[in-house]
Amino acid sequence: MEIKRFILITTVFILGIISIFFVFSIKNHKEFIAPKIGVTIYPLYDVVKEIVGDKYEVVLIVPPGAEPHNYELKIEDVKKLRGIKIVFANGLGIDDWTENLIKNFKDVKIIYLYQSVDLIDQDPHFWLSLENMKKIAKIVEKEMENFDKKNREYYQENLDKVLEKIENLQTEAKQTVFSNKFIITQHNAFNYLAKELNLNVAGYLEGENKELTPADLSQLINKIKILNIKVIFKEPGEENNLLKTIAQEYNLKIYELDSIEGKSGLNYFDAYRKNIETLKFIQNE
Ligand SMILES: [Zn+2]
Repeated sequence: MEIKRFILITTVFILGIISIFFVFSIKNHKEFIAPKIGVTIYPLYDVVKEIVGDKYEVVLIVPPGAEPHNYELKIEDVKKLRGIKIVFANGLGIDDWTENLIKNFKDVKIIYLYQSVDLIDQDPHFWLSLENMKKIAKIVEKEMENFDKKNREYYQENLDKVLEKIENLQTEAKQTVFSNKFIITQHNAFNYLAKELNLNVAGYLEGENKELTPADLSQLINKIKILNIKVIFKEPGEENNLLKTIAQEYNLKIYELDSIEGKSGLNYFDAYRKNIETLKFIQNE
């Protein structure tokens, strides 16, 4: 009898300890969320991805091809951003909603890349400058080194590879002299590209989110006549009626220039190379 009682008491005691331990361990167990690195818009994604490599997941916040300007963070975005530690943002109005991230992710560090590049009139499309892209790559690498010191050599090697890719594009661009050529583009995105390739943006068919005024339009048409413009550039995946009408009216050939905002589906390097090739082709015509 005594032994049975002893066994019973011991069993109850052991079970009690086990259950207390169990409850305690559940309480202390936090779900592990892997740290992530964020990028606000498509044109910055590839460079960040190449530098971060396989060390962290890189999350692109605005889906490729979506309009970044008026983007609003959705519940799915907040979900996919769980664990976010650094966000590389463009700035200059194109991704102002980035500020809202801080409400949801208190310990996120936001790096505004516009602060580290050479700007033309506060134009946010600075990713179309290869010199700026090199600066961006260096900033991203520096941030990753600070964040994850043990992998600094890995990030440095990745940076070297990215810089080489960009320099190859610069070499390709230099092989053709695009001297003083006037271009008309669909939206006002190509000032940086034009500056580096010695082109002139004579005009564009839409402002950011707004249509041209009749005065703007007649000015543009005057330029087409005076500058004897022969080609006009549409953007990938866009059907622009005004562009087609003008092309027909003034006998302009339509080509495509990519502002690398994600609509072509090409990565940054391929999209830029395609732009150079298009411009070379036109030069030779
Ligand atoms: Zn744009």
